[in-house]
Order: sequence, then C-alpha cells, then structure tokens
Amino acid sequence: MTTQVTHDRPTRLTELLTAAELDLLLVTDLINVRYLTGYTGSNGLALVGPELRRFITDFRYAEQAAAEVDPSFDRVQAPDDLLEGLSDALPGGALRLGFEAAHTSVRQHAFLRERLADGVELQPTADLVESLRAVKDAAEIAAVRAATAVADASFELLLQDGLVGRSEREAAIALEHGLVLQGARRPSFEAIVAAGPHGARPHATPRDVEIRRGDLVVIDWGAQLDGYCSDCTRTVAAGEPEAEAQEIYDLVLEAQLAGLDAVRADRPTTEVDGVARDIIAAAGHEDDFGHGLGHGVGLEVHEAPWLRRRSDEVLQAGNVVTVEPGIYLAGRFGIRVEDLVAVTEDGCEILTSISKQLIVTD
Ligand code: ZN
Ligand code: ZN
Repeated sequence: MTTQVTHDRPTRLTELLTAAELDLLLVTDLINVRYLTGYTGSNGLALVGPELRRFITDFRYAEQAAAEVDPSFDRVQAPDDLLEGLSDALPGGALRLGFEAAHTSVRQHAFLRERLADGVELQPTADLVESLRAVKDAAEIAAVRAATAVADASFELLLQDGLVGRSEREAAIALEHGLVLQGARRPSFEAIVAAGPHGARPHATPRDVEIRRGDLVVIDWGAQLDGYCSDCTRTVAAGEPEAEAQEIYDLVLEAQLAGLDAVRADRPTTEVDGVARDIIAAAGHEDDFGHGLGHGVGLEVHEAPWLRRRSDEVLQAGNVVTVEPGIYLAGRFGIRVEDLVAVTEDGCEILTSISKQLIVTD
C-alpha cells in the first residue's frame, strides 16, 4: 500500500532532483514543460529547483503564457534563443544543473557550455519528469477516459458504413474525421487501417487499396482531448472470416484477457507481459508476437511504463497502460486487440468500451 502525499508537480520534481544530487533541472521537452507549468504553446522551457521556478518563452507566446503558466513560475521573455533567459536566474557559485539528455540538442548543449558561468556543472538526466507523468491523478485519468469515449464513438460510426469496398485510407480518414466531430482536438496518432496481408505489419500506413470481403482488418486509432491521448486496436472481419482466422483471433483475445487480469499495482511490467506472451508461445506463435504487450499513455501516446520482455519497471496505481498482444502472419493477416486501462491497487479499470468479440461487418 502506498500513501501518496499530494504535492504540486514542480515540488515533486525537486524531490527527485535532490535524490539525484542536482540543484536545478532545465526542462526542454515541451510536453514536460506543459506537465509542470500548464503551458501549451510550441516554444518554451522551464528551469526548476527548490528555490527557483522560471518559465521562458518568446514574444509570440507572452500572452498565452500569462494565461496558462502556473503563477508559482516567474515568466521571462527571451528575444532570440530561449536559453538566453537562463543566465540571470542562476545563482552564483558552484551549481549542478541537470538537462534532459533526450531532449537537448547538441547546439543547445554547446550554447550552455559556452555561456554559463564556470561554476555551473552540466549533468545529463533521463526520465525525471517522465517518471512523474507515468502516475496519473484523477483529473488526468478522467481526461484519458474522455478521449477514449470519443474514439470509441468514432469507431462505432465507422462500422455503421461498413468496410468492404472502401480503401484503407478512406476508412482511416473517416475514423479521424469522426473523432474530431465528436469533440477530439485531433487524432492522437495517424490511424492504422490495414487489411489482409497488410495487417501483418504492426504499424502499417493506410493505403489507397480497397478492403475486400474476407479480409481481416486491423484498426488502431486514438483521440487527443485536452492534451491527453487514447489508444485502441480492434481487428474486424470484413465478411465471414476463415476458421483459422477465428481460431487465432480467439488465441489473441485469450492472451489479452489474461494480460488484463494480470494488471495491478506492485506487479513488475515484465510479469504482465509474460502472462500474455506465454499463452501465445504455448500455441506455437511466440515468434509471431514481436512487440511488447503494452505501453503507458498520457500526454503522449507512447510513454512510461513499458510492458515488455525486458524492463525493470513495476506498475503503480495511477499508471494508464495499453494491453495489446498481436499475432502477425507475414503474407496472410495480422490480429491485434488493444484496450486502454487505468491501474488500481487491486487490478485495473478498463477505459475502452468496445466489444472484443470478433466483429463481422460488410
Ligand atoms: Zn494502438
Ligand atoms: Zn498502443
């Protein structure tokens, strides 16, 4: 049982900084900036430490920043390079300044090395803000739930018009158009509609190719609403499926249900992956399931934690993750079933509401 003390996000970040023996973190990833400050524009950075919270943007976003950025941050405009807004914020003397290694360019790093005072020691960091983002609060889970509802509704609309005779691309556009009409800001990623042998590519790009009767169609899509993403996959039969397709569908679904059943707080993500993977492997399809069982979803459609064969992560209540086993038979078809769930102390809440029986449509 974990009892979480509720602090604001920058305060929780400074606790991580202290543990990492850093005085300050320069946050350059815009999604991390948004998470910490509330800013949703496309140019900005943040500097966070126990005694310092600074947000830097340029003239174009000053008004937006005034409206969005948490008032605990002091707001600064930098004329050319945002990093120029840093120097006067840094206290003199020795200082360990962390930067986000995965989100800092070589040019930015060189700028920092040249311009910052001698006592400033630059330290690469990884996943500090991301580890906070992995555990969602109730409002964030509600936002993902809302995005999921919109995406689900758009899928129902798509099926009303059937799939046979439409191109993959047209179906994908209809799905994306539908979710925007239902209230989404945009798709959370480019929808995948992959029919027949094309479905054996897990991340296929929709083609100008007609869906034919007898095809299995892998449909993977999501909505973004208030910054939060959804992610879901259903495999649909265009016309009656062959017996083998139904058999493999049932196997994937059995693995998916077992994976869902294994999700709970305090369980290593590798264990959850293993529960589903073992079922597929026992049926002789180990090599046909080449990706991880799932991933976190939040402000990004792929984020921590990762449900896969190798990981040292442990699920926590408040994680939002997908459970999405698949079997891909090259040259023939692919089948994947993906739900989005919120992890709880003793299991999970399934956010996706669409049926998982193999849907047969015209
Ligand atoms: Zn997906
Ligand atoms: Zn996914």
